[in-house]
Amino acid sequence: MRPRLSFSFPELALDGNLSPLLDRCSSPLFLRPLRRLHCLLLASALLHDPSLQVKLIRAYCACSDPFAARQVFDQSPHRNVVFFNVLLRGLVGHGRYLAAFRLFSSMAAHGVKPDHYTYPCVLAACSESKHLPGGAQIHAAISKLGLDSNLFVSNTLITMYARCRRLPAAELVFSAMPFKDAISFNSLIAGHAQAGDPARALQLCKSMAQTPAARPNDATLASVLSAVSSDVVFLRQLFDEMPERGLISYNAMIAAYANNSMAAEAVALYMEMEREVEPDEITFVSLLPACGDLSALDLGRRIHDEVERRSFRPNLFLENALVDMYAKCGDLPSARRVFEGMENRDVASWTAMISGYGMHGEGREAIAMFESMIMAGVRPDNIAFVAVLSACSHAGLVQEGKLYFSAMADRFRLSPTVEHLTCMVDLLGRAGKVDEGHELVKKMAVQPDERIWGALLSACRLHGNLTVGMEAADNVFKLAPAQSGYYVLASNMYARAGRWSGVAAVRAAMRQRGVKKSPGCSNVEIGGRVHMFLMGDREHDKAKEIYAELAVMAGRMKEAGYAVETEAALHDVEEEDKEGHLAVHSEKLAMAFALISTPPGTTIRVTKNLRVCVDCHTAAKFISKLTMREIILRDIHRFHRFKDGSCSCRDYW
Ligand code: ZN
Ligand code: ZN
Repeated sequence: MRPRLSFSFPELALDGNLSPLLDRCSSPLFLRPLRRLHCLLLASALLHDPSLQVKLIRAYCACSDPFAARQVFDQSPHRNVVFFNVLLRGLVGHGRYLAAFRLFSSMAAHGVKPDHYTYPCVLAACSESKHLPGGAQIHAAISKLGLDSNLFVSNTLITMYARCRRLPAAELVFSAMPFKDAISFNSLIAGHAQAGDPARALQLCKSMAQTPAARPNDATLASVLSAVSSDVVFLRQLFDEMPERGLISYNAMIAAYANNSMAAEAVALYMEMEREVEPDEITFVSLLPACGDLSALDLGRRIHDEVERRSFRPNLFLENALVDMYAKCGDLPSARRVFEGMENRDVASWTAMISGYGMHGEGREAIAMFESMIMAGVRPDNIAFVAVLSACSHAGLVQEGKLYFSAMADRFRLSPTVEHLTCMVDLLGRAGKVDEGHELVKKMAVQPDERIWGALLSACRLHGNLTVGMEAADNVFKLAPAQSGYYVLASNMYARAGRWSGVAAVRAAMRQRGVKKSPGCSNVEIGGRVHMFLMGDREHDKAKEIYAELAVMAGRMKEAGYAVETEAALHDVEEEDKEGHLAVHSEKLAMAFALISTPPGTTIRVTKNLRVCVDCHTAAKFISKLTMREIILRDIHRFHRFKDGSCSCRDYW
């Protein structure tokens, strides 16, 4: 609905009614009535009043017609500092910085002295146009007049220097201020944040917290968070101490958690937020990846409902985040539904679907998606190629993978990066073509990094190629001496080949270098909460029931023919230490908890931070058959969908 400005001639006859009418002309919607009002003013000869002239200039600026404002200004014989200030603000507000500078320079010729409203206005023009020489000149004039002790003026100076990336100058103004408010701090913090000095931004933020007149607020937190990504603990402290938390600070804090892979914290904070502040699109865009990471499908669905209820669609970022969330939570049909319902799709939308199919081992679907993307006129980028190559790798589609790899350079003029080469080595290695993978590593144009050697090492473990494997292990340990996963891989490779001396050597190297294995950890979402289990965990409220269920399952599995490979259990060190812990790997605890907490027939979704071990993989097959449940287990590489005693990966992982 357009707001209507109505007035009639009788009203106009009363001089007192004109001022409020002009004041009401506050947006471009009022431009037409304003013009009529202007005509009437001219006709009634009332426009000789300087205060009405100023109001008319201000109204034309507010209605986005700075030209008309300028005309009124030029025709007035009364031009004083107020006239100049009003027009200056209007010009700056409309981005007409050059016109503003010219107007400012003409003040002296008119015999008008700038005041403490004029300078901040011209300084704002300098900030916005990053006109440092102009800003410095005005700073000098301000100092001469002694206006630099004015809070408003000083704050504008700080912003000007910060925007022009002259932080030392901004600091000088700041430190000379007798009194500082939140805006002074925020301007300087934003400057340091943008200039890439998070340490100073944080330091300022800390001293702000001790200044009663300048409590940190939404804007502070948003600035600091944009620069500081590592010190999440401090940020949270700051957030908790804030007297008032608004949408911006919640969004910023959730984004900080999400960017630091602290998905559980992001989700927990969102739960708090819901009780205090209405979330918006930005909240959901940062929260959805966290749901994906945790496989928090229930929460993800709830957010999807909210998105629909609040009519946030169409919104490309949000829809891409939804597709990605569903794909990561293992709900491909829902991902596909959101994808199909999108008005516009970019390369990220297609890539989310391609990698979703890829992680589920549905290589053919992934390839079909990739082809449809090209047919739809969307050009694949580097990330899309990583998605399709890893899909080929998970599904063992060697020929197709090779085709896409060469198409990258030939058809799309993209040069393969380390990620693509890692996918290729992985693809060849898994398919048993270890030597071909090795050749590729030797002749690649980029310097192979630990991921490429790691992929080769992984293939050597799978296919028992000790010659290449030892070379890969040597390189991996040189490049990433602290990453436990590679030691475990090497140790497994030796164990599978029965080389116990090799196993011992790797273990000794680990001990010597003080490398700790990263603990296995599995998540499962039950009743709107994400439950987390560590290996051998007994901390959970239902620990007793969980272990009882495991014992029952172990008995039934044994009857069904499940046998722990004792040989392997003794020597084959998988990603988690097997000795004595076979029954209590985190994924087993999570599965048992899901079994006792959900009605029969409910699909079980578990997410693990490491690769699933052979024994847990076998156990999950048995459990899916014995309990007639579908179990979807996401490990660090892919999805395993266990149904009726077999896994979607066809034991190829
Ligand atoms: Zn296991
Ligand atoms: Zn599997």
